[in-house]
Amino acid sequence: MSVGNLWIPAGIGIGSNQDDPVGQVRVALSALAGLPESRLIYTSSLYRNPPMGPVAQPDYVNAVAILLTRKSAHELLVDLQALELAQGRLRDAELRWGPRCIDLDILTYGYQVIDEPGLVIPHSGISERNFVLFPLLEICPDLPIPGQGSVSGLAAGLDGTTLEKIPVSMQDSIQG
Ligand code: AMP
Repeated sequence: MSVGNLWIPAGIGIGSNQDDPVGQVRVALSALAGLPESRLIYTSSLYRNPPMGPVAQPDYVNAVAILLTRKSAHELLVDLQALELAQGRLRDAELRWGPRCIDLDILTYGYQVIDEPGLVIPHSGISERNFVLFPLLEICPDLPIPGQGSVSGLAAGLDGTTLEKIPVSMQDSIQG
């Protein structure tokens, strides 16, 4: 169900560590800009970051974006999963924590808190993820993370030194 004429700000996390991650993230950003009933209003820089979790794998390229959307959170998740599929993500073949060509997450959806089996908002682990909070800090430091504080407050407790901002001038020449 859509939320009528209300435009809700939604934070989107983007990550890739396979098949030209910089290119994958850029394709995802263009695809987000084309989503129906949504408008892409801010995008962060792209950041290179070591992988988290137990699986040895290449570094990730991460970015975040802010959409204004008239879709419900559930509809937006369906849209994001369709974009992942269109970019060739094969969810069934993946390891948990393993490499992926594109990962799109809903980080925040307005002030809503949702805790359902298939949808958790704010996205779980957001407060520990420097690759989410530092890109958000760049574009919307005052964004509230419902129940947890602001982006700037949460980022202040994290180490951002593992993140390497990818200069725009290098984005065309970098291969994952
Ligand atoms: P991932 O492997 O990180 O793409 O996780 C995908 C699974 O997480 C899907 O089955 C989603 O239903 C679920 N999920 C729960 N909350 C969220 C969220 N906020 N954004 C994206 N996927 C979510």
